[in-house]
Order: sequence, then structure tokens, then C-alpha cells
Amino acid sequence: MNTTIHASSALRIERARLIDGTGAAPIDDAVLVAGDDGVIGYAGPAAGAPAPAGERVIDAGGRTVLPGFFDCHVHLGFQHGRSPGRRAEEDPVLQMLGTVRRLRETLDAGITSARDLGGLPAGFRTAVEQGLVEGPRLQTAVRIIGHTGGHSDVRLPDGHDLSGGMSEIADTEDEVRLATRRVIRAGADLIKVCATGGMGSPYDQPDDEELTEAEIRAVIDEGRRHGGRAVAAHAQGTAGIMTALRAGVTSIEHGYGMDDAACDLAGETGAFVVPTLSTVYAGINKETMPDYHYQKKIRWSGITKTNIARVIERGLPVALGTDAAVGPHGVNLMELSYLVDLGMTPMGAIIAGTRTASELLGVSGRLGTLEAGKLADVVVCDGDPLRDITVLGDPGNVVCVVQQGVVRKDLLPAPARTAA
Ligand SMILES: [Zn+2]
Repeated sequence: MNTTIHASSALRIERARLIDGTGAAPIDDAVLVAGDDGVIGYAGPAAGAPAPAGERVIDAGGRTVLPGFFDCHVHLGFQHGRSPGRRAEEDPVLQMLGTVRRLRETLDAGITSARDLGGLPAGFRTAVEQGLVEGPRLQTAVRIIGHTGGHSDVRLPDGHDLSGGMSEIADTEDEVRLATRRVIRAGADLIKVCATGGMGSPYDQPDDEELTEAEIRAVIDEGRRHGGRAVAAHAQGTAGIMTALRAGVTSIEHGYGMDDAACDLAGETGAFVVPTLSTVYAGINKETMPDYHYQKKIRWSGITKTNIARVIERGLPVALGTDAAVGPHGVNLMELSYLVDLGMTPMGAIIAGTRTASELLGVSGRLGTLEAGKLADVVVCDGDPLRDITVLGDPGNVVCVVQQGVVRKDLLPAPARTAA
């Protein structure tokens, strides 16, 4: 990820209760100062802060100040509640403007960085970098590599393509190498592969196996040969999860079938897990889903909760991701409360959405915590998320969002005027 975006600004946040994302205890009455390059110069107790130097001042009024959050699994190119196969019917202008609106809603929810895992053209990433639109900093996989008839094959049985350009179908080791080169040509920051079938796909089951170990190894090798790109594996059933881990993927997406053996292997390989619990807690809707999709979700929701609770208990690196589009956009931080529901501490969930996520995206040197030398991506929230993590899930409580020192959202009360 090119972490630097178009604009930056000098900023000073005062009267903050600072949760810096490192796991350290909160600091009451803290100050955060960023220079005009948007880089944090100081984040700590007010007593040790440098004197004001004409920066824009935000009075947090004792509210909690956190690092800007990451959502490591979104589909910003897709509307919630609409089958991916319908996208091909949409007017391309309306489709693009809808994506622009979802970028805004995601940023307003406190997500200052996001990783799109299928369906988002690379131009949106560049548009955010250049300041043409406001949204989270982006990494995008652009398209999803999978087998014929597999999870990413959004086609009718007669072969008619409804994917709107999201599918990259490949069925042999040579074809997956070629597919990897095509998505890199399209501007992909990372590669997304299907190791298993899925919920929303009509022709397979979550336990079905998809790319073989040799094919996933070939994709990882092409990623390595092109600047060391990460490989994210859609992996739901246990057998496909094991295949993806043996091949050496960077992250297991969903991980619903993570049994003890899978946790052992993930512990050995160092793979991240992105559990996308929002799809289970908020993404099940009988009215809008095809029946096959609804039935699969019902069958898998209990399995998912049992296994992801195990992943959390085992202390594997968990990064926050929602699969937004399957569930609603713009309420990404509800995922924090689902992680807590399955056993994480509120502080642990905050770290999953900040520091650990920045490690998964390879940007932990610049983002993910509020420390001197990092970029000032900041969220200010009403309420105490360490007592009640659900406060962050309501975008109305996310009263201020900052990227690289630039205020993108500000619902804070106007500063009291001093009588002349
Ligand atoms: Zn997804």
C-alpha cells in the first residue's frame, strides 16, 4: 500500500483519552500532535507534550482517541443485499457512484484503511491516493482466482458471465500463474484465491475444495516474483483451509472450519485469520438471499462461532474483516463486538482492527498505532469502548475521523467561544 495520500495537515488533539493500539493501558488527559506532513510527532500525556505551534486544534473533550481502523475484507464494488450476479445489469455510472458513496460511508464508520478482496478496480485506490475521492486507503485484489464452477465463478450454467469482471477462472497450475499475472496487470496489490467453495456461490459447498496445494503454491510464487505480493485465501471448510496453510498463504479469510489441527498449522506458518463474523451475525437475510445461500449460512453459523472462538482462545493473529457487501456497508466496527462475543477482550478486538491488521497489510511501519513517526490516522469516539465495545459499531459515536492529519469527519461540538 502506498501509505501516503494526497493531503496532510498539522493537527493537535487535546484532552484525549488515548488508546494507542499497542495494547498499552489508556492514557487520560493525553495530547497527540502531527506535523504538516501528517506524521505524529507526539502522542502521550499532556504533561510531556510540546507547546502548541499554530496547528489546527481538536478538543476531544475527554473522549477516547484511537488509531484509524482497518477492515481487511471488504467488497466496496458491491451493494449489500444484491446478488453479485446482478451487477452486470447495473448502469456503469451508477455502479461507480455507488462505490464512491460506499467509500465515504466506510471512512465515516472509522475505517481509514481497507483491503478489498474482489470486485474493486485499482483506479479507486489511485483516486483515494490522489485525493479525487475521500475514502479509506486501499489495497485491492481486483479479481478473485478460482476454478470453473467454483466460488468466484459467477456464471450461468450455460457459461454466460454475470461477474461484471470480478471472476478470474483458472483450472491448472499454468492457468493460475497466468491469472495471477493478469490481476497484477490490472493493478492488484495482493492476490485473492479460492481454496474452498462458499456460501453465496450456487454450485458448491463451503466444504468443497477448490485450488490445489500445487496451484496455490504457483500463485504464491508468482506473487513473490512480482514484488512479494500477499496471497489471501478464501477458505471455509477444514480441508481447504489445511491446503491453503500448507501452501503458505498470508491469510485465511473466513476460517469457519478452523479445527485444532488447522490452528496448529496456522501457528506454525504464521498465517493471519480474518474471521468475517459480520457475515454470520449480520449477513443472514432470508428475504434478500437466494435459498441455497440462506440454508448454507444457517447450517454454518454455529460451526463458525465454535471454531472462531477456538482461534481466539489459541491466540492466533486475528485481523478485523467484515466481508462488507455480504452484510451492510458502513457499520464495519460492529465486527469488534462479534469478536468480543466469541471471547476477545475489548482491547484485543481494538488491536485486531488496528495493529494486527496493519501487520497483515504490511504497513505497520506507518500505520496501526498512534506513536511518534506513524501517520496520524485517528478516530475519536463517544462512550468508553473498553467498557462497551458496541459503541464503536455505531457510526454516530465515531465523532471524528482523521487521515494523515486531515479531518475527514467532524461531529464534535464547535469550540466554545472565548468572551472578548
Ligand atoms: Zn469476501
